[in-house]
Amino acid sequence: MDKIYMDSSATTPTDPKVLEAMRPYFSDIYGNPSSFHSYGRDAKKAIMEARDNVADLIGARGKEIVFTSGGTESDNYAIKGVAEALKEQGKHIITSAVEHHAVLHACEYLEDERDFDVTYLEVDETGMIDLADLEDAIREDTILITIMTANNEMGTIQPIAEIGEIAEEHEIVFHSDAVQAVGNIPVDVEELKVDLLSLSAHKFNGPKGIGALYIKQGTKINKFMHGGAQERNRRATTENVPGIVGLGKAAEIAKEEVPTKMKKLKKLRDKLIAGIEERIDEVKLNGHREKRLPNNVNFSLKYIEGESILMKLDMEGIAASSGSACTSGSLDPSHVLLAMGLSHGVAHGSLRLSLGKYNTEAEVDKVIEVLPEIVEDLRAMSPIYNKK
Ligand code: PLP
Repeated sequence: MDKIYMDSSATTPTDPKVLEAMRPYFSDIYGNPSSFHSYGRDAKKAIMEARDNVADLIGARGKEIVFTSGGTESDNYAIKGVAEALKEQGKHIITSAVEHHAVLHACEYLEDERDFDVTYLEVDETGMIDLADLEDAIREDTILITIMTANNEMGTIQPIAEIGEIAEEHEIVFHSDAVQAVGNIPVDVEELKVDLLSLSAHKFNGPKGIGALYIKQGTKINKFMHGGAQERNRRATTENVPGIVGLGKAAEIAKEEVPTKMKKLKKLRDKLIAGIEERIDEVKLNGHREKRLPNNVNFSLKYIEGESILMKLDMEGIAASSGSACTSGSLDPSHVLLAMGLSHGVAHGSLRLSLGKYNTEAEVDKVIEVLPEIVEDLRAMSPIYNKK
């Protein structure tokens, strides 16, 4: 069998239709969208179409979409941009302990360098925040709530619409990092009551290095980059036209595919979960069993190091992850799993299998067949397992 890719939460392959749509913008249609002539107008037209497609995917309007270089920039822009715009009003921000580092480190920067105060909401053992904790954390000077739609490591989906309602009631700006959600589940900014929302093309079969931030009309936010007047004066620099076209195409495809993709992924996910729980003992499913992304499987496999499972899987041609791509390489256990109350030892033995639209049932069967043997081999070498 060919290699099996089960690391779609890290990134996804570019859909051939996306690549095809992008191709002319590397060659024939190379004008600068700010130029007056036809070369420029053609590029500008492509950007406008892409903007509408992205807006359409999330129930927004074209003028509420700002293109960025990806999820990290969208998160940074939302958090720092709103904080700077509203700092006279207050300097308190609420987020959660399980956010992506793009959010956590932006918040830490504001605490350390800009004198803001940040509350990090705890989560329960399923990774879910408690709405009562959120209500309790709100202060007179709270200007921003930033809570992710769905977690990149263990897939838990937060009650975003309810958080949006609370934020609206208290007139607090609400941002959600929806990088893992957009393209995998329906996301509608009106229904979720968000003021800002981050997304990234490479998580849903678009190219890397391009994303968007939804900014609800009327939201106060500072510029992200100073320079030209691109992106309605918010983010200077000549637009990444091929990337934007790719994101637009990926959004157009996602809009059509999400309902069927979700159904397919859920079926594969549930088969994978059931197969692992049936065939391997002492495993713990991390994250919420129902309120989870359709493509996420995350297990702690007791008495094993996550890295050694990854190595063995890789030798079998199976690509997986022990957590988020950004933290693998570091020996620290995942801050997300620790926040959910897992011990250091158990958190170290975590395995994330994240599915994408090209995965098949035969691939799931292969993983279910191979993984128990790998776990058995590794446990046979584990002094802690043998001492049990
Ligand atoms: N936020 C979440 C939840 C993510 O999973 C990621 C990527 O892993 C990011 C932000 C960063 O996105 P990008 O790689 O586009 O900067």
